[in-house]
Amino acid sequence: MNEQRTDGITIALSKGRIFEETMPLLKAAGIEAIDDPETSRKLILDTNRDDVKLVIIRATDVPTYVQYGAADLGVTGKDVLMEHGGDGLYELLDLNIARCKLMTAGFADKPLPEGQLKVATKFVNCTRRYFAEQGKQIEVIKLYGSMELAPIVGLADIIVDVVQTGSTLKANGLVPLEHMADISSRMIVNKASMKMKHERLTVLLDQVNEAVEARRNSE
Ligand code: AMP
Repeated sequence: MNEQRTDGITIALSKGRIFEETMPLLKAAGIEAIDDPETSRKLILDTNRDDVKLVIIRATDVPTYVQYGAADLGVTGKDVLMEHGGDGLYELLDLNIARCKLMTAGFADKPLPEGQLKVATKFVNCTRRYFAEQGKQIEVIKLYGSMELAPIVGLADIIVDVVQTGSTLKANGLVPLEHMADISSRMIVNKASMKMKHERLTVLLDQVNEAVEARRNSE
């Protein structure tokens, strides 16, 4: 691991959609995974390049790995980065994948209470910031998943969650209310790595950026 940190490039990303949509972009930079994270239990995946490894971790852990230099590069959602705060890393590229919106949501036909709103979310920091900017008093109820349930059982008045098609909200009788931010996956880099491995990382980032632009133009 130490040798890899000094000489090689380690990229942190999560399996599932981010892995599937990022790998074609990394291929443009000449990087192909040898193992498939869906079938392998390995957490460190080799690539066709001796100097590049992939670490497969939860999306919410990606900024932490990159912040502390356990990975040079990482791919994760803007929602995760907004929650993390961005210490120790640069957000360099919008990969334009896994696009969705961070939104408030609630019942269409139920007026919101006059006093303090109860907001259920896993995006605690983003939610506090958003409502503080509006000068609104809220109580944040931290949940780890299935936020849509909270208004139904009376745990919260509204939720803050990522919405793509809106069908999860609809299936639970909720509607999107306020658009808080556009979300997509970003490539992030450890600040020290950017200095120490500047040339190699810049070449890689340029190649990935070209692939992102090519895909954007073909959309
Ligand atoms: P949808 O029903 O298409 O609006 O998708 C909403 C659900 O899918 C949310 O509850 C999220 O948990 C998840 N989701 C959709 N898009 C993303 C994304 N880009 N990143 C993470 N989770 C997402």
